[in-house]
Amino acid sequence: MSDEVNPFESLQEQIDDAAAYLEYPTDVLERLKHPERVLEANLSVELDDGSIEVVRAFRSQFNGDRGPYKGGIRYHPQVSRDEVKALSGWMVYKCAAVGIPYGGGKGGIRIDPRQYSASEIERITRSFAKELRPLIGEDKDIPAPDVNTGQREMNWIKDTYETLENTTEPGVITGKAPESGGSAGRVEATGRSVMLTAREAFDYLGKDIEDATVAIQGYGNAGSIAAKLIDDLGANIVAASDSSGAVYNPDGFDPRAAKAHKRETGSLADFEGATDAMSNEALLTMDVDLLVPAALENAIDGDIAPDVEADIIVEAANGPLTPRADDVLTDRDVAVFPDILANAGGVTVSYFEWVQNRQRFYWSEERVNDELETIITDAFDNLVDTYERTDAPNFRTAMYVVAIERVVDAAEESGIWP
Ligand code: NAD
Repeated sequence: MSDEVNPFESLQEQIDDAAAYLEYPTDVLERLKHPERVLEANLSVELDDGSIEVVRAFRSQFNGDRGPYKGGIRYHPQVSRDEVKALSGWMVYKCAAVGIPYGGGKGGIRIDPRQYSASEIERITRSFAKELRPLIGEDKDIPAPDVNTGQREMNWIKDTYETLENTTEPGVITGKAPESGGSAGRVEATGRSVMLTAREAFDYLGKDIEDATVAIQGYGNAGSIAAKLIDDLGANIVAASDSSGAVYNPDGFDPRAAKAHKRETGSLADFEGATDAMSNEALLTMDVDLLVPAALENAIDGDIAPDVEADIIVEAANGPLTPRADDVLTDRDVAVFPDILANAGGVTVSYFEWVQNRQRFYWSEERVNDELETIITDAFDNLVDTYERTDAPNFRTAMYVVAIERVVDAAEESGIWP
């Protein structure tokens, strides 16, 4: 039987695992395991044929001790209240892990966006923005893109908010297109932090990333860009998958060509650079130096973990390993570098975007990438120091120790009121 767990329970278990290395009373930690509030909205949306559809949407504000709530909005048929709660909690610990001044939030709409026209998606998005309006704002809660959302949706949310508020406030949302106040480097930021984490991880473990073999599960924004940047380090991308299946070439292939093929045809299937097709599951158990899960939660569970052959896993997706998979991989000495560090590039460059919006002063892409590199490599150094100092069983637990300490410090400095 699969141990596919509720992602919210996974988050709580990860906090409990780290608590063993922290000396906080249980009441202090209990606060950190639940969202402060969750909005659940039923959006009435007019479809192109004139009929009305009711669409379920959520926004969870998990913790604001370190700054305004921050986190993406995803459109996916699996979106649920607990998934959004988990994702908002991971944002809290991600922002704390890399030391940027935000709390955590997350939103989602339960739709399969492929079933809707662009004008229907616009009405769904603007309807959600109307519901979010009282909760969001550049000092309150700042959404961003996630699975199946991007610059287009962010621009609509910004425009809806600004129209209703009769103001200009580009910092209300990040991940916008450049002409709407987006930052240089934002589109590549998540893949870039995955690449930086992989580079530092290989270095720390005394392995050479040049010529390392790499498999990428999920070939969207995070996965395809991570593939390209890891390829630039001299590694060999040998396999990649999307929801249509996996492709493989033992000699490696050009990740840019794979992305162009997916852009043109809608999937990786029949990509000429990697002629062997395989199942999604087979990709996860390939004997590679580096595996990058970059799709959704629970991709590697306790059933498949004993068969994982990769030496190093760098998590581009949020929550791709279940807690049981974590235990199995820890026992098997597979080095797992956690999501809250590896994919933090997205929120870090969102933070840069927000800073630029507030200052009305825009940075070059080179400056964005340099500042991102500093934040991720500093966070990596902090991680390995804590890993060695605490004797934590794995890198995830060590990263949570760093993050929880920062959130608790902020909460204690503010005090509890009333
Ligand atoms: P995306 O929609 O651009 O890409 C997701 C990809 O996963 C698609 O190629 C899809 O076909 C593939 N996929 C879905 N199910 C699959 C399966 N079972 N096997 C293989 N592939 C599968 O989404 P994204 O923005 O790249 O996000 C991916 C993950 O990265 C999510 O967990 C997201 O929360 C996380 N993340 C994204 C960002 C960002 O800035 N985009 C930032 C931080 C974290």
